[in-house]
Amino acid sequence: MTDSIFAKIIKKQIPADIVYEDDLCLAFRDMNPQAPVHVLLVPKKPLDMLTSAQEEDQTLLGHLLLAAGTIARQLKIDGAFRLVINNGEESGQSVFHVHLHILAGRPFRWPPG
Ligand code: AMP
Repeated sequence: MTDSIFAKIIKKQIPADIVYEDDLCLAFRDMNPQAPVHVLLVPKKPLDMLTSAQEEDQTLLGHLLLAAGTIARQLKIDGAFRLVINNGEESGQSVFHVHLHILAGRPFRWPPG
């Protein structure tokens, strides 16, 4: 399988504006931001989509949510932010490496569009 664009960012083969990194995940600013703050949080493990995750990924998935909170505090958006995971092409997923969108800095409607 060829590397996704996010796998290349994780391997530092292409540049990104990285805001957070630890052993299990990396977060960087979206190149086409949909809000004043738009960060993508990706596991270093190359899972293509959320529904490919298995029981063994439970700790990793929990870690991503905790990391999202850490990043939100770091960026001072912990008062209000939205997390989005697009799973599958029809939901809007365009990069097939699991990622959480962390969005903040403007009002968000509900239900989402
Ligand atoms: P999704 O549509 O949920 O798969 O989200 C993919 C996101 O990745 C989009 O918001 C893109 O703007 C973003 N994106 C794609 N390539 C890059 C890149 N090289 N650096 C930063 N963000 C990217």
